[in-house]
Amino acid sequence: MSPALGPTVGGDTPGPGLRVRLDHPKALPSADFCCACGQLAEDAVGAREVQQLVIRAERHMRDTCTNPAVRAAAAHRDWRRHHPPKKRRK
Ligand SMILES: [Zn+2]
Repeated sequence: MSPALGPTVGGDTPGPGLRVRLDHPKALPSADFCCACGQLAEDAVGAREVQQLVIRAERHMRDTCTNPAVRAAAAHRDWRRHHPPKKRRK
């Protein structure tokens, strides 16, 4: 079994979305992104490259995607990041 470098999550037809893979803390992270709108499809290997890919993917989904459902979901995640839920009292 030879380890494949690059996206392996989801098999050959993983469908749209962002996937990041890190098998163990010292492994090389890899990621791939394929948007539901079909306009953006990228992959990356390496910590810095994966980080940049995640940022590009999220910006595309929030700002430039042609699919309104994708933009709405990304806008909600963005809002959530700025408004984290209050911790429940025990
Ligand atoms: Zn898109």
